[in-house]
Amino acid sequence: MPVNIQNNVSLLPYNTFGIDVRAAHFTTVHSEAEMREALQSGIHPVLVIGGGSNLLFTRDVAGLVIKNDISYIKLERNFTKRAWIDVGGGVQWHTLVTWAVENNLGGLENMSLIPGTVGAAPVQNIGAYGVELKDVFVSLKAMETTTGRIRTFSLKECGFGYRDSVFKRELKGKYIIVSVRVSLTRPRHKLNLSYGDISRTLVTMGIDHPGIADVSRAVCQIRRSKLPDPAEIGNCGSFFKNPETDLAVLLKIRQSHPEVPSYPLPDNRVKIPAGWLIEQCGWKGKKVGNTGSYARQALVLVNYGGATGQEVKNLSDQIIQSVQQKFGIALEREVNIV
Ligand SMILES: Cc1cc2nc3c(=O)[nH]c(=O)nc-3n(C[C@H](O)[C@H](O)[C@H](O)COP(=O)(O)OP(=O)(O)OC[C@H]3O[C@@H](n4cnc5c(N)ncnc54)[C@H](O)[C@@H]3O)c2cc1C
Repeated sequence: MPVNIQNNVSLLPYNTFGIDVRAAHFTTVHSEAEMREALQSGIHPVLVIGGGSNLLFTRDVAGLVIKNDISYIKLERNFTKRAWIDVGGGVQWHTLVTWAVENNLGGLENMSLIPGTVGAAPVQNIGAYGVELKDVFVSLKAMETTTGRIRTFSLKECGFGYRDSVFKRELKGKYIIVSVRVSLTRPRHKLNLSYGDISRTLVTMGIDHPGIADVSRAVCQIRRSKLPDPAEIGNCGSFFKNPETDLAVLLKIRQSHPEVPSYPLPDNRVKIPAGWLIEQCGWKGKKVGNTGSYARQALVLVNYGGATGQEVKNLSDQIIQSVQQKFGIALEREVNIV
């Protein structure tokens, strides 16, 4: 069946911020062939979306919005201690995590409940609770938007960094990720319990000898208690990245704020939680028009209902400015602005 391209479509159901803008043209694709056909429509520019959970729309979108719905999970290869799984880019990330846990395949459990699709996961090298996509990544297949040709990218070629990859930088808009191959552990797993509240939560759950299913449940419990559910209040999770700075910057902040939290990085550099910096500037829980900084996590900007993308962007500009003024640190947005 030829792909069905619709005109003048509201993107409200397609972004977790709940921003009401329109796409000039819109289609959903379920296979590589449909993706190629949509690209051959000749409508430009093209914007591919998954769950819209890392996108802030500040205007109507010209050109063609393609929603990736290529959905399959396939056991590709079984090794003695690992298995390779190929996953269609349109699969919901948490569906993959649940499938892996149910099949006793380890490595994804700390990334439970991250919204969005598998195809978008490499774009910012998603991560949570001490684990990133790159830790389980083998390769991906992507379609070049100008030619429809498929190219395989290795781990190295993806140039993963902290919430970063080549697909956010030099190859932005040039490739659409159609599938991702991950390598998962079995039958024994190496659990990562060192980060955040995981160990403490497992204790409160009464679990002494956790397995991957327990870790996944603990992570879900922690996330539900801290992060707003986009079904109830529009948001995109962390709006900013945690800044990485020189140790000297941290030492200077420590003079006036001895309690400043930080995490050591190589080369005399440190990571400072953006949420802490934002809170120190008085933004935590503050409402500005229809938007604001979430009361339980300052790093999350929310839409209280009816906010425009521009309103949210303006708030983020003000936050960036005040953190710069108070601490001399330039916050970077994690969310993609369109
Ligand atoms: C409540 C909440 C909590 C979150 N927690 C986390 C977290 O813990 N860790 C984390 O890393 N992120 C987190 N996020 C952000 C978000 O879940 C991830 O960035 C996710 O990978 C976005 O997936 P998506 O399918 O919704 O992408 P979209 O928002 O649809 O797209 C994001 C970007 O990727 C591009 N893109 C989408 N699909 C493709 C594709 N197939 N090929 C090429 N480019 C593509 C889009 O054009 C856009 O630039 C959270 C978001 C929310 C709402």
